[in-house]
Amino acid sequence: MELERGIHQMAHGRQPFGIPSPNVYLVQGHRAAMLIDSGYDEDEDHAARMAYINQVGGPPIMGVLVTHRHRDHAGGAVRLKRDTGAPILCHRLDREAIEQERFEGEAQVDEELQGGETFDLGGLTLEVIHAPGHTMGSVAVLVRERHALLSADTVLGVTTTLVRPGEGDLRLYVESVGKLRDIAPRVIYPGHGGPVVDPVARMEELIEHRRQREEQVLSQLAMGANTVMEIRDALYTDIPEARLAIAAEQVQSHLDKLTTEGRVTTADGVYALK
Ligand SMILES: [Zn+2]
Repeated sequence: MELERGIHQMAHGRQPFGIPSPNVYLVQGHRAAMLIDSGYDEDEDHAARMAYINQVGGPPIMGVLVTHRHRDHAGGAVRLKRDTGAPILCHRLDREAIEQERFEGEAQVDEELQGGETFDLGGLTLEVIHAPGHTMGSVAVLVRERHALLSADTVLGVTTTLVRPGEGDLRLYVESVGKLRDIAPRVIYPGHGGPVVDPVARMEELIEHRRQREEQVLSQLAMGANTVMEIRDALYTDIPEARLAIAAEQVQSHLDKLTTEGRVTTADGVYALK
């Protein structure tokens, strides 16, 4: 589907964690096009993507720019590379995980990004913005002439973003959302779901949501809860069984952030206010 002239959104495949299928974007200038993300590595999804690319005229594809390491974004990249001839691009901090976890250990990434790169598609310029937090190598892509921001999973319209200990960092995540808010994009095209038409308000809301959650974690600590599980059980009282592990990870991410900031101390999985 063409969202606005030259910016196409394809959504195919499974719905991870009940959120909409991953979006693959095709940004098409008058000289070349770039694919942003690649969706799942599934026959049907891939065939639908190739059909769509042909339907819009089969433009030369300058690259398959993978926004981060997760399967629903990186999985289909090798097939797209094979069938379009385009190189695979990703941030250097997610490269190893992408090749190990998604490409069966094959060195298929052709170009490492670090943020700040620009790509001239002819009338449309893409700018890569490093936005670590959801994963350390997450990037967003700004379509400069349109003030349109492809935010990947850093800003979702439908839900908050998971920040998992070990692959993400909540402190950096909040910083990154602030950085994207300061760009003041006109619209956000997220990694899942439809356009976010009030991007600045949405990003303020996301930052505020994390701030409130942090306050809750701090007040639980003040009241004597001192492990991840105790804090989780106090804060998440009405979530389904299947979400409990994810909830614990979110609490862990908050505690990691507070520990890094020196506001909380930790020893042997027991936390205390400083
Ligand atoms: Zn993701």
